[in-house]
Amino acid sequence: MTQVQSANQRYHERVKKILPGGVHYNFNLPWEETPLHFVDSKQSRLFDMDGNEYLDLYARFGAMILGHGHQEYIGALESAMQRVLCVSHCDFDADALELMNAHIPSAEMVRFGLSGTEILQTALRLARAYTKRNRFLRFENHYHGNADNIMGGRAKEAAHPVPVDFRGDYKGTAGRATNIMSDQSFLLPWNDGDRLESFFREHGDTLACVLTEPVCVNGGSIDPAPGFLEKLRALCTEYGVVLIFDEMITGMRMGVGGAQKKLGVTPDLTTFGKALGGGGIPVSALAGKRELMELLETKRVIHAGTYNGYPLGTAAVTATFQILSRNNEALVHQMHRRAEELHSILVEAADGVGLPMVVQGPPGLASFHCCEKPLEHPGQYSFELMSKDIITATAMQRHGVLVSSFSRLYPNAQLSEEDLEFFKVRVGKALGEAKQSIDEIY
Ligand code: PMP
Repeated sequence: MTQVQSANQRYHERVKKILPGGVHYNFNLPWEETPLHFVDSKQSRLFDMDGNEYLDLYARFGAMILGHGHQEYIGALESAMQRVLCVSHCDFDADALELMNAHIPSAEMVRFGLSGTEILQTALRLARAYTKRNRFLRFENHYHGNADNIMGGRAKEAAHPVPVDFRGDYKGTAGRATNIMSDQSFLLPWNDGDRLESFFREHGDTLACVLTEPVCVNGGSIDPAPGFLEKLRALCTEYGVVLIFDEMITGMRMGVGGAQKKLGVTPDLTTFGKALGGGGIPVSALAGKRELMELLETKRVIHAGTYNGYPLGTAAVTATFQILSRNNEALVHQMHRRAEELHSILVEAADGVGLPMVVQGPPGLASFHCCEKPLEHPGQYSFELMSKDIITATAMQRHGVLVSSFSRLYPNAQLSEEDLEFFKVRVGKALGEAKQSIDEIY
């Protein structure tokens, strides 16, 4: 008997003839994804080609912090678009710059770009020019964009921990420039203060910079261990190393001052993107201390880009800061409270079907994991755990709840009590199915 294809499936087959894999991005993951094609959106909900309704906790990799169809945001973008669509400089710039400067501790000066990948490479360039050193340090299971020198890998030798490709790395890719990772960087486990200290004693004075997510969202939404970021800050200062926080996800989602304000540790440079401009318009930013950013002013360091400072992007940044910072960040606090309620619903529902479940990380960027205890460092985010989480996320999708890779729960500023009800109704059945599938496999 031939199976009737859904409208979504038929559409996927159509685009797949020309679009590789029928998707706009890919990692090297073993499972196939049939993307959902959406035709409409409202607040926290999405509607696909087959008329199915979803609660959107995927939020386009966390970018869509204002939810869909936010009227004030869209109004600001529409009026910006009517005035100037694309010029190199316009009268939208100052508001965005001053808002970032006012709210973000490290943002003495700011430049804008489009994507996270691109702005991170500019941050590395600045740090190298400033220190006149070449290598940077990054951490296992953090993610800093889709560039050859910065993705995946594993350190083989503890004494000289340079990253190299390994089989099964979903961030490992063919086509990298030879030795680019091992020539440029070191890779350490995160949240291990002693290891960090002994590494600095050995290699600190060869480092241009250290790059870290201040909360390791890509490694499973893991909070920094008490004192870890403070130690990193102190070591960077002692060895003249530039400290870069990659706040691509934590920016806005932990509050408009970013993780740095919340956690009280100020880096030298910070990269922002995703939710910085509310998610509806691509915009990224490099913010930093004047003495570093001045290298752009003196032109020693080049930062080029046709769309740098794109007017709709800066208008989007201004609108997003205005909306989220109003009344002492009332909307951010509400979003966090509702997210916490959602997490309790999830844990309770999992308990009801006997599926191990923890939700961890700050409420704006938490992840669920199908295990007994929260992860303490990204190395514990095993392939088996990731697979169980993905099985659960897939079951949730079948029942109308979308989560981000791989089990992130991104709330938005319009998340409502009705959304929590919807979640409660849908998630119970989904978790029952997930439990059954996991028990069959493991
Ligand atoms: N840094 C972090 C922490 C990220 O999560 C991402 C995207 N997932 C990036 C950088 C790269 O940003 P983009 O996809 O905009 O290039």
